[in-house]
Amino acid sequence: MMKVLVINCGSSSLKYQLIDSQTEEVLAKGLCERIGIDGSKLTHKPTGKEDYVVESPMKDHQIAVKLVLDALTDKDHGVITDIKEISAVGHRVLHAGQVYSDSIVVNEDVKRVIRECFDLGPLHNPANLIGIEACEAAMPGVPQVAVFDTAFGQSMPKKAYLYAIPYEYYEKYGIRRYGFHGTSHSFVSKETIKFANLNPENCKVIVCHLGNGASISASIGGKCVDTSMGLTPLEGLIMGTRSGDVDPAVVQYICNKENKTVDEVLNILNKKSGVLGISGVSSDFRDVTKAENEGNERAKAANEAFIYRVIKYIGAYVAAMNGVDAIAFTAGVGENDVNAREKILSGLTYLGIEVDHEANKKRGENTMISTPASKVKVCVIPTNEELAIARETVALV
Ligand code: ADP
Repeated sequence: MMKVLVINCGSSSLKYQLIDSQTEEVLAKGLCERIGIDGSKLTHKPTGKEDYVVESPMKDHQIAVKLVLDALTDKDHGVITDIKEISAVGHRVLHAGQVYSDSIVVNEDVKRVIRECFDLGPLHNPANLIGIEACEAAMPGVPQVAVFDTAFGQSMPKKAYLYAIPYEYYEKYGIRRYGFHGTSHSFVSKETIKFANLNPENCKVIVCHLGNGASISASIGGKCVDTSMGLTPLEGLIMGTRSGDVDPAVVQYICNKENKTVDEVLNILNKKSGVLGISGVSSDFRDVTKAENEGNERAKAANEAFIYRVIKYIGAYVAAMNGVDAIAFTAGVGENDVNAREKILSGLTYLGIEVDHEANKKRGENTMISTPASKVKVCVIPTNEELAIARETVALV
């Protein structure tokens, strides 16, 4: 029996799950918050036991990793007796540039590549590397596996990933479209192939990952051929706080009118835009929908723009693949928002999609929401990035 620790380090956070790879059961999960700032806290959730909160200063990720291992082996709140029971660690890593198109066991070369991609993922890659090094120090000899968010997008053809800017910028700096949420798109597309009983060799699948961050991917035979995020996770769909696609001239225009720097405007496009920006209400889709239902016009405009963008991208990807066999919805909104799915699908009747409205009321489990007569299968497939990372890790060690 193999126990795999899955680690997802953000700039000031660390999320973890300990997964039994045989049963795929989560033994414990938790979150360290406010690493490196005041009020650091670990919330540990052992399955079948009460939550355990440790309020303790965490000056860096190394201390956070130590506290996580202490919690996992704690005699009252733990789920294992010795850290030696952890056979491998899988790390979510944001960016591998164009180097890796698959997960890989970490060695010095892998760490160098993660470091070389700091520019491409300035918030995440440094934290990811610190997490890897902290686990190496705490668990010497235990294999560490890096699972990259950009890996799935690496199979995109050149026509899909090139920006139409001077080619030298692609050559010199690697400026191209990479795509993100790759672990989720890869997991959900594979689950969709199994669940909808599609031909794994050549089926055409569109996955709509609709959460706070949102992106769409198109894949043929499980290989990504296009995806909506670009050089950074800002491109594509309208998200909780991110604008998605805009005319780049908007940046210059706001800079001039508001006397702001490019960095400041990019921060606005990342953190103050999306449904938050349009509605002025919230970045959380539940709040925006509640406001819309209470008659808030801007909330209505935000939701409509969000849905419209999803419909447009699906149309574009059907065109890109010259067809589609299945469309899958996943992540917070995709799994739970029955009305958003209804609205998106009502814009796709031209594809011969017929919705099973009863089935579409279900939430949070693998569900076929199209009728047997529907020309395209539509399903809800809950994403599980931690399980996907654990599976990749087990496959490599
Ligand atoms: P991320 O991982 O990118 O932070 P999630 O995939 O957890 O995001 O999705 C979070 C979003 O899902 C939130 O905006 C939340 O409002 C939305 N969401 C969750 N449950 C529901 C629901 N029942 N109805 C509508 N939206 C929901």
